[in-house]
Amino acid sequence: MSQALSEAERARILAKSAVFAPPSAVLPDGRRDLVGLSRDELAEALAELGEKPFRTRQLWHWIYHQGATEFSLMSSIARPLQEKLAGQFVIGRPHAAAVQTSADATRKFLFRFRDGQEAETVYIPDPVEDRGSVCLSSQIGCTLSCRFCHTGTQALVRNLGAAEIVGQFMAVRDAYGEWPSPKGETPRLLSTIVLMGMGEPLYNFDNVAKAMTIVMDHEGIALSRRRITLSTSGVVPMMDRAGAELGVNLAVSLHAVRDELRDELVPLNRKYPLAELIAACRRYPGASNARRITFEYVMLRDVNDSEADAKELVRVIAGIPAKVNLIPFNPWPGSRFEPSTPKALQRFAKIVMDAGFASPVRTPRGRDILAACGQLRTESRRARAA
Ligand code: SAH
Ligand code: SF4
Repeated sequence: MSQALSEAERARILAKSAVFAPPSAVLPDGRRDLVGLSRDELAEALAELGEKPFRTRQLWHWIYHQGATEFSLMSSIARPLQEKLAGQFVIGRPHAAAVQTSADATRKFLFRFRDGQEAETVYIPDPVEDRGSVCLSSQIGCTLSCRFCHTGTQALVRNLGAAEIVGQFMAVRDAYGEWPSPKGETPRLLSTIVLMGMGEPLYNFDNVAKAMTIVMDHEGIALSRRRITLSTSGVVPMMDRAGAELGVNLAVSLHAVRDELRDELVPLNRKYPLAELIAACRRYPGASNARRITFEYVMLRDVNDSEADAKELVRVIAGIPAKVNLIPFNPWPGSRFEPSTPKALQRFAKIVMDAGFASPVRTPRGRDILAACGQLRTESRRARAA
């Protein structure tokens, strides 16, 4: 894709994502949610109240480092100002409308946002270490309809706002009491973010980027970009921007290595075919052996799991610092695929590994509560235009 063409394509994608914008940050009572504002926006909001610039840093620390949800708990702020702030602002969280815990301790949250729409978030504890990942949603539903994905059967309702994306993470921290203790001990459990929940993050780039910038801010939640992985089904024109502006780890949902098959499984391939996708991976900034691109490959019995597929895969990604994550297919009500047999999985993994790529098989987590990869879906629907 030429430079000018991809610029035009990016503008089109961003314009389209604005149509599915999240609701306003202003509550019916006129107060404004501070969560999701950039630092500059927070500074502006405080300046409008006549507050001095140092307050920005102070509030940022309370909101994102301490996880405070009430101004009255901000002990370094005098009572009159606490009250003034509480009259103007809130520190919002999505409401956990349902919480389910899997037999393997994975926990799924159904979050309801201010307009009543819902998305799911999953906490996946590490079975060995005392830590885990939070899998965040970026959209309610998805415009894409990858054949093996439950989210893909839910039409896009809307994009999630920056406040709602950061809010999922903060609400899960609340649930696990994972904010720094008064003694200053830092949280360990919720230390990794994967943007692998509902939706295509690169079709909601502005909100995702703003949310991740907040999460990475050193004086707040302060997650390193190395602890954040963004998964895309292959929105090629936005991959460059994600690399340049966020520099987070990239995961690419590959799933097939011949255009004919990928066109079927991941219909976005008709727009951005394999050659373009792989070229975008090759130029992804920061890709090195220390920071490899992850290719996700869902193993579908007799569809994409042959020896020939494995050989073609290693040919296609040759030279890219990458690892290949083999994902056993997670079934959902109405799905039409079967998981690959263990034998086919092992055969595939070995070919990839022998070619020099790590090829871990992802252990399915939270399948019993429909919390595993590709199983998320909510009842939310887009209100019909009048
Ligand atoms: N929309 C983004 C991120 C969300 S999906 C993307 O597609 O990359 C996270 C991962 O789960 C993707 O690799 C997706 O292809 C995979 N996935 C979807 N449905 C699945 C299923 N039923 N079983 C296993 N993995 C699935
Ligand atoms: Fe959307 Fe990703 Fe599911 Fe495809 S796999 S339908 S892009 S959420």
